[in-house]
Amino acid sequence: MSTGTDVLVRARDVHKSFGDLEVLKGISMDVHRGEVIVILGPSGSGKSTFLRCINNLETMHAGSIAVDGTYIGYEVKGGDLFRARSKTAARQRGQVGMVFQQFNLFPHMTVMENLVEAPVVVHGVPRQEAEERARRLLGIVGLADRETSYPSQLSGGQQQRVAIARALAIEPKLLLFDEPTSALDPELVGEVLATMQDLAERGHTMIVVTHEISFAKAAADRVYFMDDGVVVESGPPDQVLENPQQERTREFLRRFL
Ligand code: ADP
Ligand code: MG
Repeated sequence: MSTGTDVLVRARDVHKSFGDLEVLKGISMDVHRGEVIVILGPSGSGKSTFLRCINNLETMHAGSIAVDGTYIGYEVKGGDLFRARSKTAARQRGQVGMVFQQFNLFPHMTVMENLVEAPVVVHGVPRQEAEERARRLLGIVGLADRETSYPSQLSGGQQQRVAIARALAIEPKLLLFDEPTSALDPELVGEVLATMQDLAERGHTMIVVTHEISFAKAAADRVYFMDDGVVVESGPPDQVLENPQQERTREFLRRFL
């Protein structure tokens, strides 16, 4: 399973500091194509920072991350790694779609305009093709009838499903979710998790930061528990969630009983 081409994301010993505060203290992770990874951990443990490093929104201080064999934030020259120029970084970021806690839709644009913006403007996809792709994606997230709506006319759950469709619109190799249901009213959480589960079953490679243990049990191939900038333990969900080996993991999971 773990031959080179199966590995979509290879993170090695990733370190990141903000000033004197070391937030990531050597994170390593391999994500295989088609895998769903759930990252659990208390607030402030570095989960968002790690996702942002994968998406090149933050620059790591040491270690490396490769997505589909291409180094993020770095490039290889003569066997050595150098920080990539910003254009290279921007191009690499196009391989990764990200969904945030706050849906971050463009409020002055319709649903359709939100979905075609990046493919047309950033990736040069012809508008008609981008619109066809957007309609297909709106069907997948269950919002085929809302393409002319503005975000303010949608519920939070619908807005987040549009944000998921927008992340998919660039046809990314990898989807990152950073607490996608944390800002939603409880009754709207289920529809977003169901959409994510559907994407998992369609074979998308996903890294999901969430506190939804039920989603981790149902959808994750592997669960990582992070605390204080390190991976405390990782493994299949039944192992990490039902039979955690580390006291820190047990203590965290007790909150959800
Ligand atoms: P999590 O997502 O697990 O809650 P974060 O990655 O958001 O954790 O944050 C980890 C730590 O890094 C926290 O202590 C947070 O305050 C700090 N941090 C995050 N982003 C910044 C930043 N841009 N500047 C300074 N400190 C930051
Ligand atoms: Mg976070």
